[in-house]
Amino acid sequence: MSLSSFTVAKFGGTSVADHQAMLRCANIIKNDPSNKLIVVSASSGVTNSLVRLSQENVSDSEQAEIIAKIRTIQLNITKCLAQEQQINEQIAALLIELAEYSKAQSLTYCPRIADAILSYGEQMSSRIFALVLQSVGVNGVMLDVREVMKTNSLYGKAVVDLKQLQKNCAQYFAPQLIDKVIVTQGFVGQDEQGYTTTLGRGGSDYSAALLAEALNADNLAIWTDVVGIFTTDPRITDQARAIKEISFGEAAEMATFGAKILHPATLIPAMRKNIPVFVGSSKEPEKGGTRIQKHVDSSPIYRSIALRREQTLVTVKSPAMLHASGFLANVFTILAKHELSVDLITTSEISVALTFDNPTGSTQALLNSTVVKELEQLCEVTVEHGLSLVAVIGNKMHRSNGVCTSVFDTIAGINVRMICHGASEHNLCFLVDEHQANETVEKLHNALFA
Ligand code: ASP
Ligand code: MG
Repeated sequence: MSLSSFTVAKFGGTSVADHQAMLRCANIIKNDPSNKLIVVSASSGVTNSLVRLSQENVSDSEQAEIIAKIRTIQLNITKCLAQEQQINEQIAALLIELAEYSKAQSLTYCPRIADAILSYGEQMSSRIFALVLQSVGVNGVMLDVREVMKTNSLYGKAVVDLKQLQKNCAQYFAPQLIDKVIVTQGFVGQDEQGYTTTLGRGGSDYSAALLAEALNADNLAIWTDVVGIFTTDPRITDQARAIKEISFGEAAEMATFGAKILHPATLIPAMRKNIPVFVGSSKEPEKGGTRIQKHVDSSPIYRSIALRREQTLVTVKSPAMLHASGFLANVFTILAKHELSVDLITTSEISVALTFDNPTGSTQALLNSTVVKELEQLCEVTVEHGLSLVAVIGNKMHRSNGVCTSVFDTIAGINVRMICHGASEHNLCFLVDEHQANETVEKLHNALFA
């Protein structure tokens, strides 16, 4: 592509929550003409409502209530637009489809229908945002991402066909980029049968990164509601500060271990093509943000502390594991069959402790009684909830003296349930009781980032 500099910019739910927010984003795009491909999330709150609609046994009245709530969010934006009537007709048509899917879903649950339902937030916000762009004089067009984002049929966390994506982008998106700004949907894809799929909650970041990769973008910008990535969650301690520059490796660990700011897979495509990623606030673009790239000027031992709540710890214990082989393989076969992804692992001679991310509102497979029963055929199983995962992130942590002492001396009074250290040079992770999570992070931040 012969664009001098080409940025893929993604705007999250809060950035497209209302007309004022959308207008701010439109001005960011207008002020930097390198922003040529825009990926949007659903307006804030809409996907959460759609998650409820995508479940079974939702009464007719609740369905109607949810759809009315979504309509209100969208029409509050469209009433500020010159093309109000025309866009409202489109929204109405989409909401009729949504109501039909919801009705079907409440009768008999189907994962395919769930994904169709979940996609409506982005379908609406992208159409509206293209008009907001036009209102500030930018030649924005909405293109349906399903033309390019072909996936398998793993509904709820569909896997994208990268070769197809690249080919389709070159064919359908690239020619439009010459004189237009494309607005498209994050989070959404389409399988071979033509059914709508989704990439998992928070997947718009990942969509944007995949599109940046496929189109050889020079930059990926993720616009959100915080002025970049912080040393820790500023809601936990007011000592938290924005990080100007961070390496791909460190940022990937942060995204994986709970810094909610980026979808964990976002950096993978960016790293493959070495595309720098910017994270900033669409509310305060003048404040700058965080730049994530391959090489950075400084690589401190401690960069940040991430916290992930609602962790489940499963301990499997079998005397048969003593001097035996194949036990772990059997455990993982069961987990793989149910598409459960394990985060942390520690083992002893006869037991293995594993953690799972089990957040509410997730569309991913959750550890359920079927899985536990299958594991119980093999071994003794204990499941614990109410835990939080704390990840201290930095550089060469496995080769630096005193890391464990500095961390664990600081939180001497807190019960540490499980520790993982050494597999990654970028982190030291452990589990604590949910009630002590904030205190743990605050103490560590005070000690390590004073
Ligand atoms: N709207 C989707 C969600 O809330 C995807 C995203 O915003 O990234 O999960
Ligand atoms: Mg997000």
